[in-house]
Amino acid sequence: MPAKELSRPCMDCKEAETVFTVRKRQLCSDCYKHFIAFKVHRRMEIYRPGKTQEVRPKILLPLSLGVSSSVLLSMVEAQIQHQLAKPYGKVFFDLHVLVIDPSSINPSNASIDDNYKVLLETFQSPAYTRLSIHDIFDYVPDMKEIIHEYAGSQFADDSSLSNEDRLSAFRASISTATSAADLDYVLLTRLVAAVAQKHGCKSVFWGDSDSRLAARALAGVSKGRGASMTWQVSDGMSPWGVRFEFPLRDLYKTELLQYASVCPELSDIVIPDAPLSDNVLTKNLSIDELMIRYVQNQGAKYPGIMSNVARTANKLESSCIEGGASCALCGGPRGNVKGNTGVTATTQSGDSEGSQFCYGCMRSRPDLKC
Ligand SMILES: [Zn+2]
Ligand SMILES: [Zn+2]
Repeated sequence: MPAKELSRPCMDCKEAETVFTVRKRQLCSDCYKHFIAFKVHRRMEIYRPGKTQEVRPKILLPLSLGVSSSVLLSMVEAQIQHQLAKPYGKVFFDLHVLVIDPSSINPSNASIDDNYKVLLETFQSPAYTRLSIHDIFDYVPDMKEIIHEYAGSQFADDSSLSNEDRLSAFRASISTATSAADLDYVLLTRLVAAVAQKHGCKSVFWGDSDSRLAARALAGVSKGRGASMTWQVSDGMSPWGVRFEFPLRDLYKTELLQYASVCPELSDIVIPDAPLSDNVLTKNLSIDELMIRYVQNQGAKYPGIMSNVARTANKLESSCIEGGASCALCGGPRGNVKGNTGVTATTQSGDSEGSQFCYGCMRSRPDLKC
């Protein structure tokens, strides 16, 4: 169809109507998807096989079935299919998708059985693993002992319980929303890293948008986790010998929502975000939730500021010193290490049983109501 017959032709192809305006570009849905996906695909270039590479690396993609990680999977899969379709095309890596059941983290989350079934039918080439959060005890055998030590005398750890009940009892002992969200994030990160190690993955592709990374950077500092921000927001090596990468770091959450809206194959896979209620008391929200709200509200008005936060955080250099003491729970540097706060945390009773843990983890302990 000639461009002159269109009321608002797409700026790129000039053959279809504009559907989205993104970063001052008016694009049809196909060109929008191409424009957005390019920002992710160019981050995959470091995996382009060289002449000397003999073994194709494996990449782990943790999928929450939320919009962001589902869009990331869709983009990466599209790139792999594109590479496979070329006559002499080489696939950059093999993809392994990890789904940690959301209902194992919060029982109020609905079953994902139907979504998972559609996922396997839609994207057939990756390998899949589906786990519950309490499977961390199988993947990180030391975790039972670590949690027992970490919880301290205020928590009666019962080793006769099942993994599921034992972890539930520990999580239920955490008194504040901030500490509970903080520890859930630590446990999820440890489980993802352990699965990546077990399957010999070179990297983990996290589905965090620019907005989410900005919120995490701001929340991390206020939770005393500044020293471990490096691998939580910037691309590079994690303490577990697996690279952590954030391929969606150039994209805002609103752009990912728009992308998902023109991907019909995702409609029965994605679990939409629960709407942010204005009626929730602020004191009942974790710092992470507060920061996500703040970034979403401010990011809508001033997107440049939030992308600056995430971009600046990506320039952080690791403060982990070779051989330096690291936290048994989260893997971050412990106190008195270059780059850390140098604060030594103690429990209210003044004991020192928490000394194998960092300041950020100590603040979330069951007996520290802060
Ligand atoms: Zn177009
Ligand atoms: Zn820690």
